[in-house]
Amino acid sequence: MKVYLDNNATTIVDPNVFEVMEPFFVQKYGNPNSLHAFAGETHPHIKTAMTKIYAGINANTKDSVVITSCATESNNWVLKSIYFEYILTGKKNHIIISEVEHPSIMATARFIESMGCKVTYLPINSEGLITAQSVRDSITSKTALVSVMWANNETGAIFPVEEIGQICEEHNVLFHTDAVQAIGKLPVNVQSFNVDYLTFSAHKFHGPKGVGALFMKKGKELIPLLHGGSQMGGYRSGTLNVPGIVGMGKAIEQAVDALDFEMSEIREMRDDFEDALLEIPDTFVVTPRRNRTPNTILISFRGIEGESMLWDLNREGIAASTGSACASEDLEANSVMEAIGADEDLAHTAIRFSLSRYTTQEELDHTLEVVKKAVTRLREISSSYAYTPEGHESGLTAGH
Ligand code: PLP
Repeated sequence: MKVYLDNNATTIVDPNVFEVMEPFFVQKYGNPNSLHAFAGETHPHIKTAMTKIYAGINANTKDSVVITSCATESNNWVLKSIYFEYILTGKKNHIIISEVEHPSIMATARFIESMGCKVTYLPINSEGLITAQSVRDSITSKTALVSVMWANNETGAIFPVEEIGQICEEHNVLFHTDAVQAIGKLPVNVQSFNVDYLTFSAHKFHGPKGVGALFMKKGKELIPLLHGGSQMGGYRSGTLNVPGIVGMGKAIEQAVDALDFEMSEIREMRDDFEDALLEIPDTFVVTPRRNRTPNTILISFRGIEGESMLWDLNREGIAASTGSACASEDLEANSVMEAIGADEDLAHTAIRFSLSRYTTQEELDHTLEVVKKAVTRLREISSSYAYTPEGHESGLTAGH
């Protein structure tokens, strides 16, 4: 049996999404910006897809939703444009991010920091959460931007973006949120709170890879990162990815339709699976369920290297992860586990299971059996586990 529980890394393309994309490779391949009939065949489909994408986050038609190549591009765009517009010109000198942002924010922040921008990295607490108060305390008269993710890709922790947005508005500071892990898992409505920029990516909600977007509130438009032609209103040059945009439109429409299912059925399946995992002695989950996306579990099995567990799971056809796919080429400890202050041993034991609306009960039952066997086998050969007293003080909470 093959089981895919790595949906925070990427998701299967929904067959309905694939179906609407297919004609735009071989049959209708015109450049929508050209002035002939081939363009006329594609142009209306871009318009329809964009309407769906606006509706998916409830953007106002006066706002801009600009299609990019991925969320990484959108995130780079926000930070680098803020750098060019506010930091380089000396108008402001400071931005605020959390210390558990995705590498596409973290590495970009470090890059602009190396160019002279001051960066505050907000800490997370032992539950993997940041507080809105820490944002308030960090803002200065020189702060240009706060960029805090909506939901963390590793723990599923939901950050208080509504409150943070309000604080930013009060202090006249721009606010960006990376909502990559929120779309399709939580209600996302850009008109229901103060947000200037919002990033998302189609492949996290059963759309194609290589298509992302950036929402920009009217009046807060950024200078382009990619200069060239006048595509996307001049905000992002480059020939439009027609199949990708059409696919993203369908995918976000379906994700919004499936939101109730995700927040009830998938959440229930996740909770039952988590309860069963937590019956294994010496297991710990970081973030309380009430503050977590409905599909995610980051769990530690004391005494077991995450990579060893992945190996055992993979042999039985199960895909999970030890952290962000973007960081998997180095065997470092899970960065969120380190950020919450977990000890070195525990920080290396985290495994992330992330479900989707395609996950079945049978798959979870199979995974549970495989995990139990793997825990027994790996703890028998673990040198560190033998010396660990059960119920060791970890700073983490078991059995949420
Ligand atoms: N932001 C978050 C929170 C993510 O989880 C990811 C992907 O893992 C990204 C950004 C990057 O997305 P993309 O693959 O579209 O560049």
